Amino acid sequence: MIRGRPGIRWMVVACLVLVLCGGVAVGADATAEQTEVVADGGDVIEVQSLVSDPREGDTATYELAYYLGGDISELTVTVSEATVKSGDGFTEARENIYEWDGETEQPVLEVERAVDQSRGQYDGLDFAGTEDWALVGAVSTQAEFAGTGDLSFDRTMDHSFEGVAGDEMAYVGPYESETVTTDLGDVTVVTADEANPSLSNTEISEILEETVEQFQIAEPREALRAYIVTDPIRRGGLATGGNGDFWVHEDSLEPPRTTLWHEYVHSQQNFQPESDVAWTIEAEADYYAYLLAMKQGHIEYHDFYAALEGADVDHADAILAEPDTWSGQTDYELGALTLAALDREIRDASAGTDTYRDVMETKNKEGGDAVMSQGSVSDAEFESFVSDAARTDMSGFFDASIRSQPESLSVPGPEIYEVDDTGSELAIEITDTVVGAGTEGTVEFSISNAGTGTSIAPFVELSVPDEFDGGELHGTDEGVSSDVTAVDDGWALNHLEPGEKAVVEYVFDAPDDESAAPEVSFDAPAVVTAGESVTFHASSDQDIETYTWDIMGPEEKTMETDESELTYDFSVHGEYSVVLTVQTQAGATATVAEEILINDEPSVTINAPDEVDPGEVFLAEADVTNEFGAYDVAWETNGLEASAEQVEFELMSEGERQLSVTVTDEHGATTTETRTIIVGDPSETDGLTEEIEDTFGPGFGVPAAIIAVIGLLFLARVRQ
Ligand SMILES: [Zn+2]
Repeated sequence: MIRGRPGIRWMVVACLVLVLCGGVAVGADATAEQTEVVADGGDVIEVQSLVSDPREGDTATYELAYYLGGDISELTVTVSEATVKSGDGFTEARENIYEWDGETEQPVLEVERAVDQSRGQYDGLDFAGTEDWALVGAVSTQAEFAGTGDLSFDRTMDHSFEGVAGDEMAYVGPYESETVTTDLGDVTVVTADEANPSLSNTEISEILEETVEQFQIAEPREALRAYIVTDPIRRGGLATGGNGDFWVHEDSLEPPRTTLWHEYVHSQQNFQPESDVAWTIEAEADYYAYLLAMKQGHIEYHDFYAALEGADVDHADAILAEPDTWSGQTDYELGALTLAALDREIRDASAGTDTYRDVMETKNKEGGDAVMSQGSVSDAEFESFVSDAARTDMSGFFDASIRSQPESLSVPGPEIYEVDDTGSELAIEITDTVVGAGTEGTVEFSISNAGTGTSIAPFVELSVPDEFDGGELHGTDEGVSSDVTAVDDGWALNHLEPGEKAVVEYVFDAPDDESAAPEVSFDAPAVVTAGESVTFHASSDQDIETYTWDIMGPEEKTMETDESELTYDFSVHGEYSVVLTVQTQAGATATVAEEILINDEPSVTINAPDEVDPGEVFLAEADVTNEFGAYDVAWETNGLEASAEQVEFELMSEGERQLSVTVTDEHGATTTETRTIIVGDPSETDGLTEEIEDTFGPGFGVPAAIIAVIGLLFLARVRQ
C-alpha cells in the first residue's frame, strides 16, 4: 500500500520469519540483558521480548514493543501466526491488525504462539522447546508506517532468561558460545549444552571467520549468530536471511554436508526476487556452500562434483524461472549446477575479472530490499547484472538454461577457482610409460606435494599427442590412494598433505598401427589321425577383420575367412605347420603358428608257416610299417602272449590255431593282423592241452605262458 502524501513516505515492512529477509541489524545489544533502545527520526524499532519461559509449557508469550522516532506519524502492525492477548497504545482495526493511537510513546502488543514451529516443506520442527532448552523464532509481523525523512525499520529479540537473543531467533537454556570479530562484525557460535557436535565452538568459529574473509557480500552488521542445536529440531538448518541468525542441527555439521556454509550464504543475501529469480536464493546458498567447503578443505572436490553432477538430468523437465515447474529440490540442485556453469561462463568471458559473486553483490545493491518490501529484481534485470559482469551478452545462457528446460550442463573443474595459497607445491613426474605393447597404453605419473601446506584439489591436465587422446586417469595402488574425478579439462584428485604422493596412470587405447598389433592365438591339437577333421578356434584382443590360414606340410593350402573358426580335413599324414595371420580393420596384422602331426595308422603282416606239427618250434615274424612314433607289438595265440617282433612258438595239441599280432603306436593308432595255423591233423584235437612257446635272440619278448594256459583251462571248464 503506497499513499502519496507530500513530505510523508509510507513503507510496508514484510517480515515473514523463516523466509529470506533482508535488513540491517538494529543497534541493540543482543544479550539477555534488557536493551537500551534509542529510535531517532524516522526509525521504527520492534523489540520482541520473551515474557514467559519457552521451556515451560507449549506456548510462549512475547511482548512486542515499538520504539518510534520523532518523525513517525502513523503505524499499523499486522500479526501473523500468533494470538494477540492485550495491547497498550494500539486499537484493533480488523482481526490481527492494530493501529497505533499516535500518542503512546512506546506502544506494546502482547502475543502468544506455540513454541514448536514447523513449515510443511520440511519434515520436522524449525523451532522447538524442551524442559532444558528452547530455540524460538520471532513472531511474524508486518508493519506499515508513515513519517517524514528517512524511514527505517529494524527488529530484534530479547529475553531475561539464561540464553542468547538475536534478531530473529532466541535461545533459552544452558549453552557455550564463542565470538570472533570479523570484517562483517561479530560472529557468535552458540552451542546448546544438549548438543554434542563433532566440531568444537572454536572450530566452527574458525570456519565462519574464514568464510567471512572469503565470501562477504552484505554490509557489516552488529552480529551474526549461529546456533548449533539438536533434536527435537529437525536435521538441516534454517536462516532468516539478512538478519543474521541461523541454526544448524549438529548432525548436519558432518562432512560432506555443507549446511553451515549454506545458512551463512543466506545471511549474505539481501534482495527481493520476483518469482522468476526466486530460484537463486537456494541455488546460491547451495553452490557457494559446496564451493566454500571445498576451498577450505572440508570436503573433497569429488564431493563438490557429486553434489552438482546430474541435476540437469534429474530435473530435465523443470524451468528455473518458473517455480510452478519445480519438483523436489529443483531450485537447490538444478539451481546450484546452473550457477556453477554460469559462474564458469562469467569467469571465462570476463577473463577472470568477475565471478558470479559480483552478480550477487549487484543483486544485493540493485535488487530491492525484502524487509522494506521496496524494489525487486526480475529475470531480465538479473540477466543484465550477469551480462555486465561477463562483459558480454549472456541472454543465450538464460534462454538455454534458465528460461527453458535445461541444456546439458557440466560441473566446472577445480582449476577455475582461485584458492588461497596454502603453501602447497605440487610436482608431477612420469614414472613409467608403456606404449606399443598390446591395445592399451599407459603413462604412470606420481604427483607429490613438496610444499608445506595442503593441496586442496590437485588437478591434472594432460597434453598428449592426438593418437593417445581419449584416455582416462585412474588411481593406482601405489602412493596415497586417490579417487579421480574426470571433468572437462582434466582430472581432480584427493587433497594431498605435505609430503604425500599419489600415483595415477593415464590409460588410453593404443593407436591402430604396427605398434598396436593385435594379440592372437588359436588352439590346435598336437596330434590327430589322418582323416579326422580338426577345428581351430582363434582368439584376439581386437576386432579382427580377416583371418588367413596357411596349411604348410605334405599338403599345402591357404584359406581366408572372416570367422575366427576353421575346420579342416587332413587327408595326408605328416608333420604340418598351421599359420594364422589376422588383420584388423585399421590394417594392423599379427601372425601365429602351431605345429600339428597328422598321424598314420600302422600296418602289419605276419610271416609264419601255414602248417606245423605238434611240438614243432616255429618262428613268427611281424612285418610292421609305421612312419610316426615308436610302437609296441603284441602277439596272441591259443592263450599264449608275446611282445617281440620275432617270436618262437611251440604248439602241442593238434587243431586249427589263430595267430594274431597287434601293433600300437605311441599316439594310440593301432592295427591287428590274424593268421590261421594248422597244427598236425586239425580234426584230432579239442585244443585243451598245454602249449609251450619260447623266444630266441636278443631283444625278443618274454612270454607268460603258464598263467595263460591255466586261464584258458579254467575258462574251458566253466563252459562244460
Ligand atoms: Zn537455504
